[in-house]
Amino acid sequence: MNAAIQPVQLNTPDYVKNAKLIAWVSDMAALCKPDQVYWCDGSQAEYDRLCQQLVDAGTFIRLNPAKRANSFLARSDASDVARVEDRTFICSARKESAGPTNNWMDPSEMRATLQPLFDGCMKGRTMYVVPFSMGPLGSPIAHIGVELSDSAYVAVNMRTMTRMGRGAIEVLGTEGDFVPCVHTVGAPLADGEQDATSWPCNPTTKYIVHYPETREIWSYGSGYGGNALLGKKCFALRIASNMGRDQGWLAEHMLILGVSNPQGKKYHVAAAFPSACGKTNFSMLVPPTGFEGWKVTTIGDDIAWIKPQADGTLRAINPEAGYFGVAPGTNMLTNPNCMQSLDKDVIFTNVALTDDGDVWWEGMEKDQGKLPDHLIDWKGNDWTPAIAAETGAKAAHPNARFTVAAINNPALDEAWDDPKGVKIDAFIFGGRRSTTVPLVTEARNWVEGVYMAATMGSETTAAAFGAQGVVRRDPFAMLPFAGYNMSDYFAHWLNLGAQIAASGAAVPPIYCVNWFRKDEAGKFVWPGYGENMRVLKWMIDRIEGQASGEATLFGISPGYGEINWTGLPFTAEQFKTVTSIDKAAWQEELKLHDELFAQLAQGMPQALTDTKAALAKRLAEV
Ligand code: GDP
Ligand code: PGA
Ligand code: MN
Ligand code: MN
Repeated sequence: MNAAIQPVQLNTPDYVKNAKLIAWVSDMAALCKPDQVYWCDGSQAEYDRLCQQLVDAGTFIRLNPAKRANSFLARSDASDVARVEDRTFICSARKESAGPTNNWMDPSEMRATLQPLFDGCMKGRTMYVVPFSMGPLGSPIAHIGVELSDSAYVAVNMRTMTRMGRGAIEVLGTEGDFVPCVHTVGAPLADGEQDATSWPCNPTTKYIVHYPETREIWSYGSGYGGNALLGKKCFALRIASNMGRDQGWLAEHMLILGVSNPQGKKYHVAAAFPSACGKTNFSMLVPPTGFEGWKVTTIGDDIAWIKPQADGTLRAINPEAGYFGVAPGTNMLTNPNCMQSLDKDVIFTNVALTDDGDVWWEGMEKDQGKLPDHLIDWKGNDWTPAIAAETGAKAAHPNARFTVAAINNPALDEAWDDPKGVKIDAFIFGGRRSTTVPLVTEARNWVEGVYMAATMGSETTAAAFGAQGVVRRDPFAMLPFAGYNMSDYFAHWLNLGAQIAASGAAVPPIYCVNWFRKDEAGKFVWPGYGENMRVLKWMIDRIEGQASGEATLFGISPGYGEINWTGLPFTAEQFKTVTSIDKAAWQEELKLHDELFAQLAQGMPQALTDTKAALAKRLAEV
């Protein structure tokens, strides 16, 4: 037999008993034609081996172990640094199911497009079989996925970000179902060819594809974050939002935190902010002066799966097991818990390298009191303060990230891994708005809260490829992640509120926040970070009936005197700057709501159209 056409060995371990999985891996190996197939068991030894292999290939730089033990730096291709929303597709059978805010292509057309791209896409590479559980192993809320990837970087990141390996295979058993995820960097090698770069990817062709009906994910051409670690945005948000719609639960772009008062009474809050708008920071918040005895603990920093219970309560889990967080801006002043999480066992991507083998990013100068004299920047070039001053070159890419296990977080909540999840007492939605949107507003009821979340706008960030700082509507912070029609998604939220109310349980309050108002000089007025505790505490006061608030055009907001200002010099005048409601600005804002409603006209729930009309009327009467 000709060796060239000999099928690749599947190397299926004997603990793998799931016939569907074995058959699928065989089919995909036949399609992608890797040189070899390797099944990840998720062990530490395997992780260490793959990391060393990445060091040998030049993809990883091992950091100075005296500075940061067992940690690595990866520099991606300069074209592959963020999610690619314009290359992300929801390929539902009907276009209306994907809705106007998603890129759609007919599934058979997409399959025909992808077939030749995936045919032989892994030539010269290893296909890693990466089994994983989103959520605690064996939890009734968790789901299993299996990612096939030709990237060892993906395999090691998936081990940190999910419950990855043999445990997931055991949960799957002989009959269990899984979400199949196929990923390739899209850079096959010819016979004998070696990678010319340490970050192979396809600089021109990228596809991040979801088939919601068959619950499949196909990703081509990128090795970065949300494009490549398919358990995260692709599965836990886009596919899971479809599962949630069908099965009556929510998959949300939300952190989950626990907040305990000095008496030990504890609440749980789920908060949605768009990418790079403060979720990781808020989930690890350290209460400031004036909040002695208060404690914030992290359940999750990016994604929440939330299930209504028979008694009308909502219970939430974090489907992830690690954090893929924004590095720039993180320091001991803004987020000490995060900095401590990063002491060891971290994969950094696109931060700068110091001369003593450690990492650096913009914001660290606040801890160190000065800029470093010399660095290697995220592109591998020399960086000095003089070069930066002259060219504006950032040492770290603005979307530079760390990958670290949740167990590294000193503020980790004791229930973070509890299969039952935690009871959600309030929802928060927030965008990044330098103007217009006030610091905090409590919605008067569920429907108005859904309206506020649905019409939220935010300035675009480096987390996605494209223009930055442009205000766009980002409903529920889910614009890039809702795997189905956004108006149906709104209806799903409205139904949930009605269902909770019908069960006789208290409907959780909904808050809208904005930490990002700027003054005329372009500086943030609200100090943010740990100081956000002052706003969180007001929310708890509201829940406990301890704060009456003041009625505004949109809902209820705190009076200056209702916030605990101990330890923070923040004048009533400054407070006004971050809370004022400008009629003209809001009339412009409502036009943007109108645009969203026009775009989503088909299927837009009447309750939200009515809410908008009522708001426009109130505004006109101001
Ligand atoms: P995530 O991507 O939503 O998890 O957002 P992060 O928590 O990683 O924060 C993204 C960026 O926003 C970082 O550069 C942070 O320093 C910055 N940031 C986070 N919280 C605040 C805040 O309260 N105020 C201000 N001004 N910046 C913040
Ligand atoms: P983020 O996660 O929300 O922490 O930025 C990554 C992303 O949303 O792209
Ligand atoms: Mn995110
Ligand atoms: Mn984050």
